[in-house]
Amino acid sequence: MSERAVLVTGASRGIGRAIALAFAAAGDRVAIHHRGSPDLAERLRAELPGQGHAIVQADVADPADARRMVEETAAALGGIDVLVNNAGIFLHHPIMETSYEEWQTVWRETLAVNLVGPANVIWNAVRHMTPGGRIVNVSSRGAFRGEPNSPAYGAGKAGLNALGQSLAIALAPLGIAVATVAPGFVETDMTNEHLKAPRGDEIRAQSPFGRVARPEEIAAAVLYLASPEAEWASGTIVDLNGASYLRS
Ligand code: NAD
Repeated sequence: MSERAVLVTGASRGIGRAIALAFAAAGDRVAIHHRGSPDLAERLRAELPGQGHAIVQADVADPADARRMVEETAAALGGIDVLVNNAGIFLHHPIMETSYEEWQTVWRETLAVNLVGPANVIWNAVRHMTPGGRIVNVSSRGAFRGEPNSPAYGAGKAGLNALGQSLAIALAPLGIAVATVAPGFVETDMTNEHLKAPRGDEIRAQSPFGRVARPEEIAAAVLYLASPEAEWASGTIVDLNGASYLRS
């Protein structure tokens, strides 16, 4: 893979961190986006192989912030070849245990970060892309299988899948491919609590491998979907689940 300019949102930890490491290992220059973790972002930049990496900050739910962050990335890296929309939140809000006020707040915040945020980052980033540009959105199993205690998360990720498919059509004439990865459970800070026993044992048992994914396994798929060879993968949603949910 030739040296490209790659923006990874939510890159200071978890899956985003693994994605940033994978692109840098492939020889690309990475903009490490974080919301409020400058120390983690600096530490990651020091770990990344290669040179020319940047750090950018923004709340992706804020349209002006998202635009500034994209402009700063393009200035720092000399353009944007690849955008990975990875930043996301997962909020617990079971319908019968959540007040109407809290319900409003969670829906607004979740859709702002997980769906409208990526849409706004994409709107700005495509204006810096040339033919061969790639966009990869990080969705979730929750988009297909329901999230009984986090319905806004499932709905937002289903929306993100649809956004990716719509823009795959709209951006193909510009030579830009748009694809989505939809992982099941991955070992990160987001899932720490869920993966403790006994719920964690149930989750691990969903896969015949008896475990959940490692962030590096998601990063490998993102790297492929962002590769020059992946134009034909545009519009796909890669369901990365370690053969979970296949048993009858
Ligand atoms: P994480 O909580 O470790 O990382 C999420 C990142 O998003 C953090 O760096 C956080 O700062 C950033 N972020 C959150 N809100 C933001 C905002 N308003 N503006 C900017 N950045 C913001 O979680 P993770 O597990 O690494 O999740 C990464 C992505 O993968 C998310 O989109 C998540 O929904 C998705 N995902 C995770 C799992 C899993 O099991 N961990 C499964 C499927 C999909």
